[in-house]
Amino acid sequence: MTSQRIDERDNRLLMDRSAPGRIGAKLPPLDVPAQPLPPQSVLRADLPLPELSELDVVRYFTRLSQENFAVDLNFYPLGSCTMKYNPKVNEVTAAMPGFSAIHPMQPAETVQGALELLYQLQGILTEVTGTAGVSLATIAGAHGELAGVLMIRAYHMARNDTKRKVVLIPDSAHGTNPASAAMAGFQVVTIPSDKNGNLDVEVLRKAANNELAGAMITMPSTLGLFDPNIVEICDIIHKAGGLVYGDGANMNALLGRVKLGQVGFDVVHLNLHKTFSTPHGGGGPGAGPVCVSERLLPHLPTPVVEYRLGGKPEYILGRPPKTIGKMAAFHGNFGVLVRAYTFARALGSDGLKQVSGDAVLSANYIQASLRDLYDLSYDRRCMHEVVFSARRQKAQGVKALDVAKRLLDFGIHAPTMYFPLIVEEALMVEPTESESKETLDRFIQVMRQIAQESKDTPQVLREAPHHSPVSRVDETRAARQPDLRWKPKR
Ligand SMILES: *Cc1c(COP(=O)(O)O)cnc(C)c1O
Repeated sequence: MTSQRIDERDNRLLMDRSAPGRIGAKLPPLDVPAQPLPPQSVLRADLPLPELSELDVVRYFTRLSQENFAVDLNFYPLGSCTMKYNPKVNEVTAAMPGFSAIHPMQPAETVQGALELLYQLQGILTEVTGTAGVSLATIAGAHGELAGVLMIRAYHMARNDTKRKVVLIPDSAHGTNPASAAMAGFQVVTIPSDKNGNLDVEVLRKAANNELAGAMITMPSTLGLFDPNIVEICDIIHKAGGLVYGDGANMNALLGRVKLGQVGFDVVHLNLHKTFSTPHGGGGPGAGPVCVSERLLPHLPTPVVEYRLGGKPEYILGRPPKTIGKMAAFHGNFGVLVRAYTFARALGSDGLKQVSGDAVLSANYIQASLRDLYDLSYDRRCMHEVVFSARRQKAQGVKALDVAKRLLDFGIHAPTMYFPLIVEEALMVEPTESESKETLDRFIQVMRQIAQESKDTPQVLREAPHHSPVSRVDETRAARQPDLRWKPKR
């Protein structure tokens, strides 16, 4: 592992190996008349670009890419993010010229195949969620949330029900939920969890009055728990005249087993980049389709692909009658949608069901294998992820952060830390369905070793990671003053 450090130093030097006149590009001979350069006053004489050979550049970028952590290299148990393996066949289909070389402004009759794929994907997602319709136009989970609450607003407005300004959100929710509700102009009221990690139904009952626009519920919750009262919860909200929003980013736990539309949800977003296997991280690209029940169908964002029978049957980009309008340019992130379609078709319905079975089994295997050394805030069977608390380690002077950093030394990505906020020193582990038992066993063995180290050699944990290209970074400064590119020495 020390060699990696040497590489890193070498990497910096590489760009400084610039030598005047060294070049890696070769232009073909001119086959058009030479044009005069613009006036000298607008030319930059001192553009400080490094002058390097092609090989130098290839090594530089290849090394840089290897300094990133990637699910194609190592185990990535980042809770709530579903960093599962992204099958390469998805990339093959997404790169097919019929999908990748078309233009979003092309007339619909010239891209019927692409529209048919979107239409079929709409069908798959409504089937998976047990809803009546879907728009694929939204390009992130949070973006789907915003579309969802805007539809809830449009629904109340269309009925002239203008007093409904409150959205209820559990205290375990992903931070994007309250942010989306607030962006749509709603007032957010937080509902606490009870001592078992379920939503506190009695508090909910009191809060559900005639000012209620709806509630945003995550199923399973971000504690990785299936709330057994969910049908009653939806019922309470509906009786008060509100609609139920389902954050379906955790669909990996339910695929092929639970249809949120049948449970009582009126609108659900999916994170295709998580559950349906598009590489994500670093902020995109994603897709967060919104699936809705009958009564929200007229409000779906545009476009929704329709199959029009008639003279010549064709796929068209439809506009729901009371649409909330466009959420993004064109048809959403088309490449992500092709990957999701490929993933679903490659697995089939039995395969999708096995995804959730294996994902939940893996998380429970980890829970059972580590529960003697790491505390559980809620001592019950989990769904696709398990939330540990490092409070026992904290008493030994080692924080959840230190445990997470130490995992990097073993080539394992850190779990999600300090989320959900209601768990002290939270470590949220999501193994996904795609990891072998051997990988899970190695993770368990490493976590056990770290628990031992927190007793014997806590300093080793507090200074970890010891073997990664960079050790602890100043996270505030990294965000405020990012140092992202090579700059010439002046
Ligand atoms: C990831 C996630 C989101 C947000 O999805 P983005 O695509 O990152 O906007 C929302 N809710 C939950 C529960 C999530 O895990």
